[in-house]
Amino acid sequence: MPETEVLIIGGGPAGSTLARALRQAGKDVAIMDKAIFPRDKVCAGWVTPAVMQELEIDPEDYARDHVLQPIHGFRTGRIGQPLVQSDFPGEPASYGIRRIEFDHYLLQRCGAQLMMGETFSSMKRMAGGWLVNDSIRAELVVGAGGHFCPVARLIGAKRSRETAVAAQEIEFEMSTQQMADCPVDGQRPELFFTPDLKGYGWIFRKGKYLNIGLGREDKHKLSGHVEQFCQYLAQIGRIPRDLPGKFKGHAYLLYPHATRPLIGDNVMLIGDAAGLAYAQSGEGIRPAVESALLAVQVIHNCRGDYAMDRLRPYVDKLEERFGARQPKAKAVKTGKRVQRARQMLAGMLLKSRWFSRNLLIRRWFLHEQDRPLPASTIHVS
Ligand SMILES: Cc1cc2nc3c(=O)[nH]c(=O)nc-3n(C[C@H](O)[C@H](O)[C@H](O)COP(=O)(O)OP(=O)(O)OC[C@H]3O[C@@H](n4cnc5c(N)ncnc54)[C@H](O)[C@@H]3O)c2cc1C
Repeated sequence: MPETEVLIIGGGPAGSTLARALRQAGKDVAIMDKAIFPRDKVCAGWVTPAVMQELEIDPEDYARDHVLQPIHGFRTGRIGQPLVQSDFPGEPASYGIRRIEFDHYLLQRCGAQLMMGETFSSMKRMAGGWLVNDSIRAELVVGAGGHFCPVARLIGAKRSRETAVAAQEIEFEMSTQQMADCPVDGQRPELFFTPDLKGYGWIFRKGKYLNIGLGREDKHKLSGHVEQFCQYLAQIGRIPRDLPGKFKGHAYLLYPHATRPLIGDNVMLIGDAAGLAYAQSGEGIRPAVESALLAVQVIHNCRGDYAMDRLRPYVDKLEERFGARQPKAKAVKTGKRVQRARQMLAGMLLKSRWFSRNLLIRRWFLHEQDRPLPASTIHVS
């Protein structure tokens, strides 16, 4: 019967980062993913320099064989209002990647045994670990299967009680004519907040690819919101009227409101499976990578005993890094007048250059205040 010390379910950025770090520490690691890579992933594909640093990716080197769009500014505002431009000359403030390439690159270099095209379906308790899919013994199972991770469900995640962000997106290669007509500057992604402030849409050009999407913390009539947004963008000439293909949807949890158990005996969750995306921006790749970097230290310190108590420092480390989780209090019903006043205030703030640059972009979207975790965290002796 195949055996491994650590079995990671999911080969996205969380899974491959953990696998690479554990392999560097000499552990026996396998990754199981139901997809065969390169696989696509619904995502805008925006990463900060902190992510590149934590993953030890040299942008110049990566850009030789992959799409890497440097970002030097953002255009932000409310749908229907003129946008405010915030520029960041010098080093790129962020990058645009294509998930189909990025995740494959991370997985290929991680050094773990890869079990691709294999779907996780069950795990049964056995002495010193788990029996997965009735065929693989593992001392530690790590759920890194994204928002719908089956390991998360098995250890108690209750999706019906969660408030997730629901998002839809399309990414396509533009024709020569579409490229010539597209006024969007790759160096300046555009973010459009919805009038009710429950979400935002974006247009993001990465070389010859255009990514358009919208996410909301309220999945009610999401397709209708996406359709209206696209009609608006086409009307103001930002996107082609003839979009090829359909929008694809996905979901994720914002960390402050997530309530999923993070550990159990011989099992833990990382990345979207744990529900870690940043509250204001929905950025999830950095928290996914960081959760893996935090987990590796704890796994190493367990010295082969993965009882729940030994894994508890992982929960403490997540809280230290991302703050305490505060499951959402029941929504307080606000009157129409309060809602209107709030929306007016937000509309005014979004027109302010100072607010857009310093709070919205630098603090909430770039998270400049959070220094990257040292990549050396992953070089465990
Ligand atoms: C529309 C949209 C736009 C986004 N834009 C951004 C952005 O621009 N920047 C950013 O930082 N974040 C963004 N995010 C969030 C980001 O995509 C996630 O936070 C990130 O992918 C989490 O990585 P992960 O490794 O935890 O999970 P994932 O990348 O979701 O990987 C999970 C893996 O698990 C595998 N899997 C699932 N179930 C099983 C199973 N039963 N058996 C085996 N394998 C399984 C899947 O095939 C997949 O490969 C966006 C999300 C959405 C929905």
